[in-house]
Amino acid sequence: MRIDMNKKVLVAFAASVLSAGMSAQSVYPGQHHGKMKIETVAPVSVASFDLKDVRLLPSRFRDNMLRDSAWMVSLDVNRLLHSFRTNAGVFAGREGGYMTVKKLGGWESLDCELRGHTTGHLLSAFGLMYAATGSEIFKLKGDSLVNGLEEVQKALKGGYLSAYPEELIHRNMQGKGVWAPWYTLHKLFSGLIDQYLYADNRTALEVVTRMGDWAYNKLKPLSEETRRLMIRNEFGGVNESFYNLYAITGEERYQWLAEYFYHNDVIDPLKEQRDDLGTKHTNTFIPKVLAEARHYELTQNETSRKLSEYFWHAMIDHHTYAPGCSSDKEHFFDPKKFSQHLTGYTGETCCTYNMLKLSRHLFCWTGDSSIADYYERALYNHILGQQDPETGMVAYFLPLLSGSHKLYSTKENSFWCCVGSGFENHAKYGEAIYYHNDQGIYVNLFIPSQVNWREKGLTLSQETNFPANETTQLSIRR
Ligand SMILES: [Zn+2]
Repeated sequence: MRIDMNKKVLVAFAASVLSAGMSAQSVYPGQHHGKMKIETVAPVSVASFDLKDVRLLPSRFRDNMLRDSAWMVSLDVNRLLHSFRTNAGVFAGREGGYMTVKKLGGWESLDCELRGHTTGHLLSAFGLMYAATGSEIFKLKGDSLVNGLEEVQKALKGGYLSAYPEELIHRNMQGKGVWAPWYTLHKLFSGLIDQYLYADNRTALEVVTRMGDWAYNKLKPLSEETRRLMIRNEFGGVNESFYNLYAITGEERYQWLAEYFYHNDVIDPLKEQRDDLGTKHTNTFIPKVLAEARHYELTQNETSRKLSEYFWHAMIDHHTYAPGCSSDKEHFFDPKKFSQHLTGYTGETCCTYNMLKLSRHLFCWTGDSSIADYYERALYNHILGQQDPETGMVAYFLPLLSGSHKLYSTKENSFWCCVGSGFENHAKYGEAIYYHNDQGIYVNLFIPSQVNWREKGLTLSQETNFPANETTQLSIRR
């Protein structure tokens, strides 16, 4: 069957062709059959396909993915493990001898307190890229990283795993100056979970549960006063990872950890539907809501749903620039003064990366086309253009000041946060093109691709050169 469409709208195909009921869905994104002990209990309108069932066909998106994957593969595993091994006193040897490792620069320098975050992002990105392409090179790179990290974890003892000493966590607990140790650990938690979910790496699951146990033992005895002091510091989406670890293992101590990082000062105003964003650090804020979204999915807590939806609308209606990005110099500002915030430092890419994540959750709950419209706007205007088509390097900001220019990373001496999330951005375009429910299939993005709907035994192919042309052509094969 071939269908031509010339209107950019959500399309649900005829139920007569594709009808059948929905099974229990996990919306973290994709279904990951058999890997979740705690399934989503919240009602779901639509579900995404697993990334491994979607393949990109030639397009600018696929070009970005290929440049991203070439960069990822060029980064030597021993270099990515070097700061971890140094922290643990473990050294990589060749036939028992000493091996010199050329050190990475930028935020991966040995004196940078965020060191190791890129390795976490790459664990995710290798998993995503393996699912998106089926190419063994990404599986091998991910496996090598996980094996190296397991060795480091054993040497550090007690389940702790990081590229910096535990002392940074202690400083955080005491309210002393330190960059963001839990933020950095979150990248490892998330990366190891993704290695399990997307690349079926069982060792990664063992390593990350030991990290979770370490965190539980560390935080359980602390006072409420210490907790509140500690979580004032940026901790990324570590609570979202704990919810995911709880969903995978069914172990309630990980749910306890997720709730431990509930940030009262930030989330309580959202419960009251109050936009209290002020001049807060934007990318510190968004992942806290991602955890609330996950909380709703696993417990059907209505308060978490309402505040997540309120926040999404507050962001899109009041705090988002035309291209779909947010933040000026990484912070919120008075939305009545937008014109004063067209600077060279607008639109931190990590903020859009996280807003797209939140949008995927909300779209699964509601199937609301306005969420899909935002997704498309931000993906085309910001994420697709984050990467330099000449070199494959990526930008931190999307500058909106007239006459300003994008500043791209270097290959081995930047490793900003947006480089880390950037590795993931260009590996997972396939995640949000198609959704499905018992009424049919949704084509949310006009991106040349093919989706294999296993339960129905059919393949849908999409050919388009949108936005140059307004049409797309869909072919269905049983
Ligand atoms: Zn960033």
